[in-house]
Amino acid sequence: FQELGLVIVDEEHDPSFKQQDPAPRYQGRDAAVYLAHLFGAKALLGTATPSLESYHNAKRSKYGLVEMPERFGGVQMPEIQVVDAREELLLRKLKVHFTSTLLEAIGQALEQGEQVILFRNRRGYAPILKCAVCGWQAGCKDCDVNLTYHKFQNRLQCHYCGHQEGVPATCPACGSGEVRLLGFGTEKIEDELKIYFPEANIQRMDFDAVRSRNAYVRIINDFEEKRIDILVGTQMVTKGLDFENVGLVGVMSADQILQFPHFRSGERGFQLMTQVAGRAGRKHRRGKVLIQAFRVDHPVLREVLEGDYRSFFQREIQERQAFQYPPFRRLIQLTLKHKDPQVLNQAMKLVAERLKAGLGGRVLGPGIPPVGRVRGQYLLELLLKLEPRTPVLRKAKSLLLESLQEMHQTPGFGTVRAIVDVDPN
Ligand SMILES: [Zn+2]
Ligand SMILES: [Zn+2]
Repeated sequence: FQELGLVIVDEEHDPSFKQQDPAPRYQGRDAAVYLAHLFGAKALLGTATPSLESYHNAKRSKYGLVEMPERFGGVQMPEIQVVDAREELLLRKLKVHFTSTLLEAIGQALEQGEQVILFRNRRGYAPILKCAVCGWQAGCKDCDVNLTYHKFQNRLQCHYCGHQEGVPATCPACGSGEVRLLGFGTEKIEDELKIYFPEANIQRMDFDAVRSRNAYVRIINDFEEKRIDILVGTQMVTKGLDFENVGLVGVMSADQILQFPHFRSGERGFQLMTQVAGRAGRKHRRGKVLIQAFRVDHPVLREVLEGDYRSFFQREIQERQAFQYPPFRRLIQLTLKHKDPQVLNQAMKLVAERLKAGLGGRVLGPGIPPVGRVRGQYLLELLLKLEPRTPVLRKAKSLLLESLQEMHQTPGFGTVRAIVDVDPN
C-alpha cells in the first residue's frame, strides 16, 4: 500500500476470521487492526454483536465506539420467543424435533405467503447410529468421533477426515437388528418438514447442499424470488443475507448451541441466535423468531430475547475475568500429534515439564482434546494462559520454541507434530 488510510472489517465478530488450519494460524480481524496501525491508518470494525475483545477495547477507550440504535431502513426488530420443548414433551405435544408452537407458526407464515428460515447447527441426517441392545455406536476407524448418517447418499460419514462407509443392517458387535439413528441434522429436519408441509417448497442450505459455488448462488436466488418456502440451514443462513419476505425464523435447538463445552460458547450462542433472528423482519410487518430449548432458563436466552447486548457483555466479561480467559489472558494452545500414543505421551511430558518449570500455573494440562484421534493420529493439547501486555508473553514464546526444539532433537520424538495456535478460537 502507498497511502493506506482506512481498513474496514465487517461482521468483525465472525469466527471465520480466525485462520485455523493449515498454518499460518492468525485472527484476520486482529491482523487488519495491526495492518492499519503499521500504516497509521484508521480501522473500522462493524457488527451488531461485537466480540467480547472488541467491545472490551471500546469500553476501556482503546477503540472509539459509535452505536446505531436503529435497524437499517427503519425495519422493526423481530418479536423473539423461547419455546419450552420440555413442557411440550411432558404434555405430549412435541412432534419429534418440532414443538407444536413452531409447527403452528410455520403453517401460519406459509398461509400468509411469508417465507421461513430454520436454523440447525448440524448437517447430515443423524449424528449417531447406535445398537439398542448392546450400545455399540458407529465410529470412524481413524478418528475418535461418531459417524454421521447422510440419507442422500445412504452412507455413514466422518466429519473430521471424510471417511465414508455403508450402513450395517445388523449390529457389527452383537448381531442384533435393532440399530437406530439418534439425534438430528439439517437433512432430517428437511425430511420431517416434508411430512408436515407436503405442499411447501423446502430447500436445505449447508456444506453438503452448496458444494459448488453455483449451488449457493442458485439457492439464494431461488429464495429471493420466492421459489423456496422454507430454507433449512446451518450457520450459513445466519450470514448477512437480507431477504424481504421472511416472516418467521426458527432455531431448532438452543441447547445444542449453548451447551458446547467451550469458554466462548455463550458468546457464540448470543451472536448466532441474534444474527439468525436478524433474518426475520420486513419493511412493513414485524418478523417473528421462535427459539426451541429444553433448558429455557439459560441467561444467554434471556439476553437474546431482550436484545440486550450490554447485559450479556456485563455477565460474560465477569465470567471471563473470574476464570481468566480472554480478553484478560492471552491464550496459546499447543497440540502434539503422533500415531503412537506412547511416543506422544512421553513427548508431551517432556514439553509440559519444561514449560511448567518456567511458567508455573500458567500452563494448563496436558489433556486429551474432545476428539482425541484424527486421521489415525493421537492428539494431546495444553493451554498457556498469559497476562497480556507483560514480559511473560516473550518468555512464553521463547520457552515454547526451545522446548519444542528440544523435543524434536530427542531420539524417537522427531516425527511428533507440534501445532502452536496463538489466540485460538
Ligand atoms: Zn449390538
Ligand atoms: Zn475420521
